[in-house]
Amino acid sequence: MPAIAAHHVVTGVDTGLGRAHAQAATVHVEGDRIVSVTPGIDPDAEFVEGWLVPGFVDVHGHGAAGHSYSDPDPENVLTAVRYHRAHGTTSLFTSTVTEHLDDLVAQVAGLRRLVEAGEVDGIHLEGPFLSQAHKGAHDETLLIDPTPEAVGRLLAAGGEAIAMVTLAPELPGGMDAVKQFTKAGVAVAFGHTDGLGDQARTSIEAGVTTVTHLFNAMTGIHHRKPGPIPWLLTDERVSVELICDGIHLHADTVRMAIEAAGIDRVLVVTDAMAATGQADGRYVLGSLQVDVLDGVARIVVAGDAPGPIAGSTLTMDQAVTFLVDEVGVGIGEAAVMASTSPARWHHLDEVGELSPGRLANLCVLDDGAHLRRVMRRGRWLTAAGTTEGEQP
Ligand SMILES: [Zn+2]
Repeated sequence: MPAIAAHHVVTGVDTGLGRAHAQAATVHVEGDRIVSVTPGIDPDAEFVEGWLVPGFVDVHGHGAAGHSYSDPDPENVLTAVRYHRAHGTTSLFTSTVTEHLDDLVAQVAGLRRLVEAGEVDGIHLEGPFLSQAHKGAHDETLLIDPTPEAVGRLLAAGGEAIAMVTLAPELPGGMDAVKQFTKAGVAVAFGHTDGLGDQARTSIEAGVTTVTHLFNAMTGIHHRKPGPIPWLLTDERVSVELICDGIHLHADTVRMAIEAAGIDRVLVVTDAMAATGQADGRYVLGSLQVDVLDGVARIVVAGDAPGPIAGSTLTMDQAVTFLVDEVGVGIGEAAVMASTSPARWHHLDEVGELSPGRLANLCVLDDGAHLRRVMRRGRWLTAAGTTEGEQP
């Protein structure tokens, strides 16, 4: 029975303290699962320097390695997924972007097969039910209102593989759509919205449980016109995603959000696009073109002004390093926000913690929070994100 030991093993959250629970321990693995976690360093175990943390869970991303999750070829989708696995993301949702409803239905049907095969953990529909005023990197000509028919078509195509939808609840039919998705077991995220505090509160009462990239693509905070953010940060019924690339949010903003919401309500996400892991240049995001310069992705617009920031080129291991180096949180706390909290809020009950019965998904980090090794389902991954014998 393989066992791995380290001086710092993150096994969960110390509830009430807002801290990660970390101790010297040995993780015993059998097949694809953790069978026990024992305190102390077992002399027969493989000892690793630094930290053992649960494998990262990214619930918002669009691709990597030159491929987008909306690609019709599942092999291309898997190439992107493996890139993220090599960077510590052992569980992820494949996020779509706004496209024509017929195209989205076809994409969802394709991604559903990857969910059913256990390669990805769910589909996140980002659009097409988004606000024109906060469209971000979504094609405004394809944004639509969430009619029961449109919602029903997507649910029929994706079935239980649809894990999450981002929508603007203030749109006509928005609150009914929140209820329709919630009834189907889909987590509804408040996002790409013009809604203010009142809409945040009423949509949470209708079923919203999470927030898509808090601060980005919504009304910002003004002390006399606070918008939705103060409510979302402090309402314990919702979690909040933060894009921790140092570009979408300043480190001070991230620190304030973590202080306000607590590590068990913060979900670190990448919102990574196809350009992740690729050279600067021109890429496609849905129906829009994106230029990547110095790793920053922006929508191509007419004229000389820079376009809006599109998705990121971030990986979860970089996000954790940013949290530790720039925001000043502990490695254990960063790991909780990158794994335990997203797993818990999205009911991914087999991952997110190093505890008996869960899948043996883990990352080895050095004392500087840099990723050293990744195990998925009990097997160490290669630098290509594959296991031995698996064809990349
Ligand atoms: Zn996104």
